[in-house]
Amino acid sequence: MSDTNSDADTEETFDAGSLRTPIVAVLGHVDHGKTTLLDRIRGSAVQEGEAGAITQHIGATAVPLSTISEMAGALVDPTDFDLPGLLFIDTPGHHSFSTLRSRGGALADIAVLVVDVNDGFQPQTEEAINILKRTGTPFVVAANKVDTTPGWNPQNGQPIQQSLEQQSERATSRLNENLYELIGDLSDEGFSADFYWRVQDFQSNIGVVPLSAMTGEGIPDLLTVLMGLSQRYMKEEMSVDVAGPGVGTVLEVKDEQGFGATLDVVLYDGVVREGDTVVVGGRDEPIVTEVRALLQPRPNAEIRTEKRFERVEEVRAAAGVKIAAPDLDDAMSGAPVRVVRGDDVDAVTEEVRKELAKIEVDTTEDGVVVKADTLGSLEAMANALDEAEIPILRAEVGDVAPRDVTVAQTAKEDVHKVILGFNVDVLPDAEEALEHGDVRLFDDDVIYQLVEEYDEYVEELERAQQ
Ligand code: GDP
Repeated sequence: MSDTNSDADTEETFDAGSLRTPIVAVLGHVDHGKTTLLDRIRGSAVQEGEAGAITQHIGATAVPLSTISEMAGALVDPTDFDLPGLLFIDTPGHHSFSTLRSRGGALADIAVLVVDVNDGFQPQTEEAINILKRTGTPFVVAANKVDTTPGWNPQNGQPIQQSLEQQSERATSRLNENLYELIGDLSDEGFSADFYWRVQDFQSNIGVVPLSAMTGEGIPDLLTVLMGLSQRYMKEEMSVDVAGPGVGTVLEVKDEQGFGATLDVVLYDGVVREGDTVVVGGRDEPIVTEVRALLQPRPNAEIRTEKRFERVEEVRAAAGVKIAAPDLDDAMSGAPVRVVRGDDVDAVTEEVRKELAKIEVDTTEDGVVVKADTLGSLEAMANALDEAEIPILRAEVGDVAPRDVTVAQTAKEDVHKVILGFNVDVLPDAEEALEHGDVRLFDDDVIYQLVEEYDEYVEELERAQQ
């Protein structure tokens, strides 16, 4: 990658400048086009030829500045930017967004909120906005599916602003109506929003980019706005140590043939190398281990062949990487990963312990058992239950196990002999235990639905007892 400045000292910098790649997450209501948008960005980047292309990481895709400027044509002048490019988190949705935490809150530096122009604000749009507000994440709005407005004529290759101005009157008015409604909804949420070409400062104003993830119109515009926003944000907000000890967040803990339990990690700061000592948040205690291998997906690898990954010696932020190391079975999704340089293992372990302790869940002696797939979602569940005044006896990351059934059984009141599982599986032994005891399990992947299901169950029990 670095083809410049090989005489630089060990304080290495990226070739394109001194800022690290911004991490971008894509959020929005189901079916509004998040996956299509990510696919389109990846696809278009590949089509743009050899010059920059993209690199596939574990859990993320990096689009270099050179490729972005080719895609965006006159819209992006690469000499205006110190950024190496953009790193898109591949798993769309706000569930993964809130899972991906870093020290400061959200792992992603900036976000794209996808809204279907014809469908407008929907429940998950609101949820996503609340999360963005809470984490203070700057974002832009992709007003998607403009191609579905009747009469819309594709104007390939030119900025969406001109396309909009050239549409037939009928289409423009329909589209404009929807777009202005969207801008109105954003201002109801307390944001000053406008069409991106009218926005000067993307940090205090929300830029709306009309686009079609399907046809690709407006994607160059979106990339341009993202570059502008991140450049500003990274310069003002980030003190990034690109050469220091690596810091990241676990996306997933996965068994890989030949390696045992491995970690899919997004590294948001510093460098990790083979052989490094790392501290990882574990279920009971921080895990101290040594990096045996750093793995990246092999381009065009056949799924299921053993050669899906290639080994790399080091990885720099921001990047997604698979870390193979001993003793990772108890590592948790959403937990921090920190590289230890020098001999301060104890200090780093203490930092990881403190980070884990920050995820506060108030438990009582009588309450429900909560299981969730990641630390971030466990915390979100605990907040939702607190708001709904549902007490918690125990809250843990992981699938529903027989032990959870035993614990739920100890709850004093019948309404608390309950397990609420968020985005988790039920282990076979636990299924059996559930069949025989009087513990009820509710599982779902939408938090408010879980709370609703539980409330209905409580009402049902109360009616039965009357
Ligand atoms: P997600 O649930 O937000 O990830 O939504 P998807 O990306 O899966 O899109 C949902 C549906 O909308 C799919 O059938 C897509 O093909 C379609 N879709 C997404 N973006 C566009 C677009 O810009 N135009 C049109 N016409 N359809 C789209």
